[in-house]
Amino acid sequence: MPRPEGSVEKVREISVDPQPGGLRAVYLVETRSDDEAHEIDNLFAELQSQVQVLQLCEGKLVSYAVQAHESDAAVLDEIESFLKENFAFVVTQRSFDDLIYRIVTELSGNTGSKLHAVSRCNICGKVEPFPTTLVNMTREDGSVFLSRCYCASCTAEAAAPSNKEFIRSLLAADQRDFKKIARAELVRCPSRKQPMRFKVKDLS
Ligand SMILES: [Zn+2]
Repeated sequence: MPRPEGSVEKVREISVDPQPGGLRAVYLVETRSDDEAHEIDNLFAELQSQVQVLQLCEGKLVSYAVQAHESDAAVLDEIESFLKENFAFVVTQRSFDDLIYRIVTELSGNTGSKLHAVSRCNICGKVEPFPTTLVNMTREDGSVFLSRCYCASCTAEAAAPSNKEFIRSLLAADQRDFKKIARAELVRCPSRKQPMRFKVKDLS
């Protein structure tokens, strides 16, 4: 995630990208060798064409979070069966929440494994491997000034009758102070691919 540099006055454009939701699962496997860890990494690398995959932990403990389309529940079953048939210590959970993430964090520490960074909702602070909404703020030259992400419940709370009001209510609720942007004039960019893209005017 790009680090903020300078003040928000440099922001010239904001885009909001809703992300696909779906069925979630977390898989934890304690491996007995590097070969086993590689085998699991390869499995999840192959799955990336079908489902969203995020590695949570690597080393003796290997852990992945997965999000699949509602119609792909069978894929989650197949991963679980494969892991349980081939590895001795496997924990799976068919959702992602703070508790399972705490278990991954603790087991990672206990086994000397390496925990990967997972994004957090920039409103409520909840660990969120697959955010529902991504917001990118770009500078004049098109480079990304700052990216923000929001979980499903905070996105739902920010629901508004128009896209502009939706952005404003997300930014108003964000942990960082975006009052200046929320107050600025937003002008919609004509883009069919990205309906929620706005130029930020008169930001001072
Ligand atoms: Zn949230």
